[in-house]
Amino acid sequence: MKNETKKLYDLNPTLRTFQAHVLECVPKGKQYCIVLDRTAFYPEGGGQPADRGVLNFANILDVQEKDGVIYHIADRSFQTGSLVSGGINWPRRLALMQQHTGEHIVSGLAHRLYGLDNVGFHMSDASMTVDLNGELSAGQLALVERMANEAVWQNLEVKVTYPSERELARIPYRSKKELTGKVRIVEVPNYDICACCGTHVTRTGEIGAIKVLSSQRYKGGTRLTLACGKQALRDYGEKLASVSSVSVLLSAKPAEIEQAAQRLLQENADAKRKISILQQELFQLKANAVSPGCGKILSFEDDLAPAELRRFALILTERCSAAAAVFSGNEEQGYRYAVADAVNDVRPYAKELSAAFSGRGGGPKELVQGSVHGLKKDIKLFFEKKLFHCLKG
Ligand SMILES: [Zn+2]
Repeated sequence: MKNETKKLYDLNPTLRTFQAHVLECVPKGKQYCIVLDRTAFYPEGGGQPADRGVLNFANILDVQEKDGVIYHIADRSFQTGSLVSGGINWPRRLALMQQHTGEHIVSGLAHRLYGLDNVGFHMSDASMTVDLNGELSAGQLALVERMANEAVWQNLEVKVTYPSERELARIPYRSKKELTGKVRIVEVPNYDICACCGTHVTRTGEIGAIKVLSSQRYKGGTRLTLACGKQALRDYGEKLASVSSVSVLLSAKPAEIEQAAQRLLQENADAKRKISILQQELFQLKANAVSPGCGKILSFEDDLAPAELRRFALILTERCSAAAAVFSGNEEQGYRYAVADAVNDVRPYAKELSAAFSGRGGGPKELVQGSVHGLKKDIKLFFEKKLFHCLKG
């Protein structure tokens, strides 16, 4: 049974460098698993990722805890008994502590104001989510966010204590499970009391800001995505850059881009409607140029969408009183087609086209559509053999 590692981060979460003795160093693949007598490296646990950093000249790639012993995964080996210096990747740790402490305040408020429990917590370098076992309205969520930031502005001390069992019985703390033995209580006065083994900032002001990025229904409750401190600032920067680009694109002030986008969408919808009307007229004019009842027709058209191909094929078949085949596309990317006939079954065309031009297609007996790959002259020949008359091209 190994001795438990002394956890320097436990009572001093701001400790960035430390010295320790190597108790064990075991090769693990191309890496080494190191046990020290004491450490400031936080091991993965309680929803918080493991610290990164250096031990002398070695990089610490992961940190895990088992039965109170902390294992550091490093890319270099160490002599047992040697004295080593450790350094935590502090910018990263601070960001994680800002996130973690912000999460406590939001969860504490959701609990205190609306009786909701935090039933899931995920934190990474990039994002953080909190799962609550109930729903929050937009107004309730806004209140939680505002009060959480008030807790930041008050710059409250974040207290860490190990109460006796008797004291613990009287403390209304949040916990995901029944705890026994030594319980670590993390308190943000007036906002939250929670059993937690993670690292937190020492005063709430260090969190900087707490922002709810999104709220969605999740497993009968709510999943909140939160950004605190540096992550909130980064998120704000990314969103500001995005809004600024859109503002330039739409020639609208940042505060007015929503209305500008709505206008653009409306203009786009109006333009599409007009194009559709004009196209229908154009199809009709082209069809009128064909002698009524002239027999089977083939036509190649520029840039028609599948729905437009269908419409034109139906107009043509009505005019020529026989099958009408309409193609659009090119030899590089292939052709789309529609073949229509009000009287005869056109499904054999789809089948034969697919076989002849490695294509695919199908549909009901009066209208088939699909795509083919081949030369325009070969497609024309295919239809000429079936006595189609080519309109143009
Ligand atoms: Zn915590």
